[in-house]
Amino acid sequence: MKMFGKTTKLLVATAMLAGLSTVSLAKDKVYKWKLATTWGPTLSPFIDAPKNMAKLVKEMSNGRLIIRVDASNKHKSAFGILDMVKGGQYDMGHSASYYWKGKDINLLPFTSMPFGMTAPEQYAWFYYGNGMELMQKAYSKHKVLSFPGGNTGNQMGGWFRKEIKSVDDLKGLKMRIPGFAGEVMAKLGLTVTNIAPGELYTSLERGTIDALEWVGPGMDIKMGFHKIAPYYYTGWHEPATELQFLVNKKKFNKLPTDLQQILKIAIRVSAYDMYIQNYQMSAKAWSKMIKDYPNIKVKSFPTSVMAAMKKANKELLVEKTKNKPLLKEILDSQASFQKEVREWTKMSDYLYLKDNL
Ligand code: CA
Repeated sequence: MKMFGKTTKLLVATAMLAGLSTVSLAKDKVYKWKLATTWGPTLSPFIDAPKNMAKLVKEMSNGRLIIRVDASNKHKSAFGILDMVKGGQYDMGHSASYYWKGKDINLLPFTSMPFGMTAPEQYAWFYYGNGMELMQKAYSKHKVLSFPGGNTGNQMGGWFRKEIKSVDDLKGLKMRIPGFAGEVMAKLGLTVTNIAPGELYTSLERGTIDALEWVGPGMDIKMGFHKIAPYYYTGWHEPATELQFLVNKKKFNKLPTDLQQILKIAIRVSAYDMYIQNYQMSAKAWSKMIKDYPNIKVKSFPTSVMAAMKKANKELLVEKTKNKPLLKEILDSQASFQKEVREWTKMSDYLYLKDNL
């Protein structure tokens, strides 16, 4: 009996140890992921969002989830992020949804829409409207999860060589402008193209394009566009450009629940951080710009041009959603959310700013 008892105790102890080691093995398993971005290695603050996210994930997971961030010079496919995450060559991506409008137009609205929501309004739509649900619905056919990945806030309308006094001055121009705004400009008679961030200056310098929009002072001034195209227009087309973190759904589902939560939290924190980082960068660059670059002529598009843009935008919203129920559902959701939230924006920020500028 004594022997038997001892053996039983030993067996139980061995089983417990085996069980424990299985648990601790699962707990200690290190996941090594790769993330591809559209951005070059020094393109701050866009590149900082995925880098900050990876750093947070590493620290919060105590080294159990390591994410290597590859800039565009490494993978050489600035606009191939969705395909690479979908195909599993990369576990994650960081880019902007509207770059794939030719591939899947349903993904376009998750970046920003002309005359659309501001950043706080749009974040409210994503997280407390049904933006997130609609974004997952649109991305599900690609077997990819998508999360807000950092906002630029309101963008400037772009750099032009000559002053735009009428719609006729726009006609025939070749302009780099992505997203739905590109469709609007095409309707007004421009030739529209999208060009990777790293090639923007050269394209403008060589005359491949006559005009371009990029982001705002924080990111534009150091690109040097003002040396070639000194007319700098205020924005209408991207009031709240949200970048996106993409995650291969199969890879995400294989992560233990705690790492999934850590990843989601790190994504949300780094996205918000990019928004405020860019706000600070733009404010600083703006004050430096008006002092150091008096040749830059800051303008707003004339009322007639703005009216033509609004009209084209309205018509395109009808044309482009024809026979596209999901796109219509997304745009209708944005429009109705904007209608309601804008009334509050008027009562809060707008009236406050109007009386305190
Ligand atoms: Ca832009």
